[in-house]
Amino acid sequence: MTEREFSKKCGKCRQRAVTLDTVCYTVEFDHDGRKYEVTVPDLVVPRCSNCGTIALDEEANRQISAAFRRKAGLLSPEQIRQHRVALGLTQQGLADLLSVGVSTLSRWETGAQIQQRSLDRFLRAAFVFPELRQALAEDPALQLPEQPPRQLDSAWQEEPAESPSLRNVPDSAL
Ligand SMILES: [Zn+2]
Repeated sequence: MTEREFSKKCGKCRQRAVTLDTVCYTVEFDHDGRKYEVTVPDLVVPRCSNCGTIALDEEANRQISAAFRRKAGLLSPEQIRQHRVALGLTQQGLADLLSVGVSTLSRWETGAQIQQRSLDRFLRAAFVFPELRQALAEDPALQLPEQPPRQLDSAWQEEPAESPSLRNVPDSAL
């Protein structure tokens, strides 16, 4: 493990008294129009022993972001990467299927950016359904007819067919 680097000088009281400490940290996230209160009970973070000010560094933000993803039920960076690799897709390949920029997908996989819930579901669907990946790979498959097909009333009353659930994405692709 590499040495965790942070400024020893407090940004508030200017004392060189900042050391790593374990704190219970609560923060509110706004994501997709919802608020989430996220608590990390054992956040290891640079903290001034003189005035108590904490400084969120990269590692602390990574822990907070991971806690938020768990709370919101979003795929972790590791899950996204593992499922992509298990399907033999490059970052560019998966980004093309989803029509997102490869830099965006890369940020999801490093944890620098948190995917919107709709894209999280799109990712899960693309991981679970080979037919969807196939359709996404061929643009003509997504061409809509001029007119939507007419639905018979009875079609709305049929039981939905058994299908794999999006929740069944295993934690590990291994
Ligand atoms: Zn201080």
